[in-house]
Amino acid sequence: MAEAVQARAFDKAQRLKQLPPYLFVEIDKAKRTLQAAGKDVIDLGVGDPDLPTPPHILERLKSAADDPANHRYSFTEGIPELRQAIARWYERRFSVTLDPATEILPLLGSKEGIAHFPLAIANPGDAVLVPDPCYPPYRSGTVFAGAEVVSMPLLEENGFFPDLGAISQKAARRAKLMFLNSPNNPTAAVATKEQLQEAIDLAKEFGFAIAHDAAYSEIAFDGVRPMSFLELPEAKSVGVEFHSLSKTYNMTGWRIGFACGNAKLIAALTQLKTHLDSGIFQPVQWAGIAALEGDQVLLQQAVATYQQRRDVLVDGLTKAGWPVPKPAASFYLWARVPAPAGATGGSGPSQETSIAFAKRVLEQSHVVITPGVGFGPSGEGYVRMSLTVPTDRIQEAVQRLSKTF
Ligand SMILES: *Cc1c(COP(=O)(O)O)cnc(C)c1O
Repeated sequence: MAEAVQARAFDKAQRLKQLPPYLFVEIDKAKRTLQAAGKDVIDLGVGDPDLPTPPHILERLKSAADDPANHRYSFTEGIPELRQAIARWYERRFSVTLDPATEILPLLGSKEGIAHFPLAIANPGDAVLVPDPCYPPYRSGTVFAGAEVVSMPLLEENGFFPDLGAISQKAARRAKLMFLNSPNNPTAAVATKEQLQEAIDLAKEFGFAIAHDAAYSEIAFDGVRPMSFLELPEAKSVGVEFHSLSKTYNMTGWRIGFACGNAKLIAALTQLKTHLDSGIFQPVQWAGIAALEGDQVLLQQAVATYQQRRDVLVDGLTKAGWPVPKPAASFYLWARVPAPAGATGGSGPSQETSIAFAKRVLEQSHVVITPGVGFGPSGEGYVRMSLTVPTDRIQEAVQRLSKTF
């Protein structure tokens, strides 16, 4: 009897049971097992910059930490100085004017804001349009809100942007929100102005909101400067954009990002978050200001480093017989699973799934790569590789990988 009662207490909520295990947790487990066995593992799996946070940002954290005024609860909406610094950065970078009082909300990392956003605006029964493959919190945030995920496949022939014409009238009418992400994780695609405008037009026609994730806006190569969604004149009337200091300033562990755009949507997210958190540790907010306002030379150097690594990886794999496309932005390579050796069509060995290939690569070469299907069913047939390890390790990875295809 008591056991039955206990079993009920420990039964997870339905909303958790609906979710697959977070992909990276499983891969991390396999990696740790190999490492525990003394294997030298090269991790091209998780997108977490290996470069340190620039020193002037650390200095600001330290000096702010010495001030007792920064030890108390902050506010969900952050200190005004941070919101003002974000507005100035937006103006400098995108020539977009934002009202720091109503159009900007600091976040405990953009993942937090993204995952909570559907909870702030979607109701059970609403549809949320989610790219497939995608950064996993778009889907889990939607599930937590009790809303329905309507997938928008990202196909190579459409430049990995959703085919908006393929969204049914029925889904568009039920939609409360559409997630978009450019530069894209995992596909590395950069959306064009026309593609974003088409999404805005659809949102206006059917009355849904857009959440554009621009976490990689500053990581782009060969002179490419990804645009902000909010550069489009009508964007602010339908949506918000999410940004992160994580990838831009090597601050993934610090937990600071922000949402900006439509004041009503920002207000809804702010209201929700007042019930969930009490803002970002203030020294981290001051350090964030130092990041946005300080010298950007280390950012430029980091981007140059990623670009060099990209070239080593892409050129190396291509030369070894696995032609992979060169991404223009983000620090990911999104590549088709190579055809099995000896496959000439017909009765040759059949094509491996992305999971089977990633597993075999991990076992045979001790290189972690991420199976594309982990980002959604349309990611099947692809794998993602991160540029977040030093160049000599990338060279080593190319050597090892070339023995697996
Ligand atoms: C890394 C990442 C984020 C968020 O990072 P935070 O550290 O939570 O700010 C958001 N979107 C995408 C697509 C990412 O890859």
